Amino acid sequence: MVIEIKNYNKIVFFTGAGMSAESGVPTYRGSGGIWHKYNWEEYACQEAFDRNPKKVLDFHELRRKSILECQPHNGHKFISELQKLHENVTIVTQNIDGMHQRTGTENVIELHGSLWRLRCDDCGIVIEDFGESFTKKKCNCGNYLRPDIVWFGDMLNPLVIQKASEAIQRCDLFISIGTSGVVWPAAGFPQEAKSNGAYCIEINTEGTELSYLYDEVIIGQAGGLSKYLSFRI
Ligand code: NAD
Ligand code: ZN
Repeated sequence: MVIEIKNYNKIVFFTGAGMSAESGVPTYRGSGGIWHKYNWEEYACQEAFDRNPKKVLDFHELRRKSILECQPHNGHKFISELQKLHENVTIVTQNIDGMHQRTGTENVIELHGSLWRLRCDDCGIVIEDFGESFTKKKCNCGNYLRPDIVWFGDMLNPLVIQKASEAIQRCDLFISIGTSGVVWPAAGFPQEAKSNGAYCIEINTEGTELSYLYDEVIIGQAGGLSKYLSFRI
């Protein structure tokens, strides 16, 4: 499909774990996913952090290290190039790996937080922290800082959902890439885009439970984005 840039005022890319798969970040359900190896109850929930913050932070340093060994691919670059030509491109992602930003993409709404931020819930502060090791593990108040990601059992940040929802309701082109569409509330976004009149495209290596909603379903890999989409100014 050719994206005639002038024909679309607001474009939203909605990405999931499949967006990062070719970079080497395992998908949630695929083989090689970390939850086959690590029990989330010990490493990825508030209770585990309250019990043993150091163990949980060490585990997240491992995740950061493994993601830093991965590189963004041509699909990520395609999106950042489009963003340079079009003034209204928003990315709504379920990924916490920061891969979009590593190609210079801006305006990324991270539904499930980021591995590159820490926060203290007592003080309400959030710290950006990129790199293999955390530069700071404790807040000035003395508490351990926790990764600013949505762990098992956590609520999503309502302000972030609202921001994503607003962008999706306003967009006239909605392109979903590499998401199975089963994790809520993100799974409701394609319907939201469709009901508000956006042209909706799905790109995935296989059909999903939500494929029926889309105007166009492309079976293909995120890294090959430029083969299915091109933009004309
Ligand atoms: P998912 O694992 O449920 O689904 C991934 C989807 O991507 C599948 O439908 C699969 O067919 C598709 N896919 C796999 N390789 C692809 C490729 N190369 N190109 C295009 N599509 C491809 O992932 P989800 O829908 O994002 O939901 C899982 C949850 O796990 C999310 O909440 C997410 O936050 C989290 N998660 C994040 C990361 C990350 O940050 N990279 C990784 C794993 C899981
Ligand atoms: Zn604090």
